[in-house]
Amino acid sequence: MQSKSNLYDLLGIEEVFTPEESPIHRFYRIKSIAERCKRCRLHSTRTQVVFGFGNIASGVMVIGEAPGGNEDIYGKPFIGKAGERFSSILKEYGIERDRDFYITNVVKCRPPKNRDPQKDEIQACEPFLVAQIKIIKPKLFLALGRYSAAWLLGLKREPSMKEIRGKILVSKFNVPLIVTYHPSTVDHARNPEWRNFALNAIREDLKLFAEKIKEIQQS
Ligand code: SF4
Repeated sequence: MQSKSNLYDLLGIEEVFTPEESPIHRFYRIKSIAERCKRCRLHSTRTQVVFGFGNIASGVMVIGEAPGGNEDIYGKPFIGKAGERFSSILKEYGIERDRDFYITNVVKCRPPKNRDPQKDEIQACEPFLVAQIKIIKPKLFLALGRYSAAWLLGLKREPSMKEIRGKILVSKFNVPLIVTYHPSTVDHARNPEWRNFALNAIREDLKLFAEKIKEIQQS
């Protein structure tokens, strides 16, 4: 994790933090800075910054890759077809997305044509994600896809999903981490067998995630 001064220097916001400032106030200050951000090329093609959404007091964070078309228009993460499927699977396991976790992405602006986020874009956007994590202080992460998994594990290259999904790992923040396929994998799959495999894998991983959330809520 970056040092506090480095992180705040990168965001250019050290002067606005005071010891009296509440975490929620601080969180929304950082959000307003992100909304004006031009730290990487994605600022020039976005409609708006998609900072994140959900319960910042839940102690649980879901981190995906990047906003897509609907998210870019409406400013809320995971609201397209894949996001709806993700939310409805979790609902079957008793988890409500706006109540039980906070969800965001490794980059806050939509890459053109929904391409994968590039390494320098992830690096440029990192201070916002680190700031969100510092304030939310999660006890559990869920990574959706290889990019957020690699970032949370501190890996230089994206790992094979087969190696890292289906179990509880430890993130670079020393917080338990569950990894699953990005929900849009199912929509992009051309092979029906692969599609079914990915959907079943996501279901299994989200079941584990739901069980861990309930443990946290009961502790
Ligand atoms: S993706 Fe992140 S770093 Fe890049 S312009 Fe958007 S908010 Fe700034």
